[in-house]
Amino acid sequence: MILERLVVGPFAANCYIVGSEITKEGMIIDPGDEARQILKKVNDLQLDIKFMVITHGHVDHIGAIREVKEAAKAKVCVHTDDAPFLQGQRVSNVFGLSYLAPPPADRLIKGGDDINVGDLHFLVLHTPGHTPGGICLLGQGIVFTGDTLFNYGIGRTDLFGGSHARLLSSIHTKLMILPDDTIVYPGHGPETTIGAERRSNPYLRG
Ligand SMILES: [Zn+2]
Ligand SMILES: [Zn+2]
Repeated sequence: MILERLVVGPFAANCYIVGSEITKEGMIIDPGDEARQILKKVNDLQLDIKFMVITHGHVDHIGAIREVKEAAKAKVCVHTDDAPFLQGQRVSNVFGLSYLAPPPADRLIKGGDDINVGDLHFLVLHTPGHTPGGICLLGQGIVFTGDTLFNYGIGRTDLFGGSHARLLSSIHTKLMILPDDTIVYPGHGPETTIGAERRSNPYLRG
């Protein structure tokens, strides 16, 4: 499997480019900013991008969708409950950031859906709490957790639609049931494992 991380934008969001070494098909998870850099990496990897999968609708994860889509023609996949984040004016202004608002989703996804990229298979886990339609993407011994679970942290829940109780429930019922050696690629910061977070994440105690 091809897996590359780019750290993009003023909030240092992780954008992941995932691809099949066999079919050279790929997907982009959270094209948050710096479209040109993302497209250059896709080109270097010679991937045919099929999907852009959005872990949740916050601006730091969606800001480059429009530009990347114009070049790569990939389908934008977002959970039904976060789809409203993708609808707005063409230029939005959030947290003082001006960015091209993304086009509406091509595919509304929900928990239990499959996303297949060549020979790679991923399962959508609905993990509300940070936002109502937050998802994680599980496959190949890896889970992409967006802003739900971080290395030694969890997502904030004071933004619109957030719920601390729902977030903890999502983490415990959807993520902490995974094997210890599952690698966690979060929406910000370095990777970790489910086992390491189970043992030492201070927000998951008690
Ligand atoms: Zn977020
Ligand atoms: Zn974020």
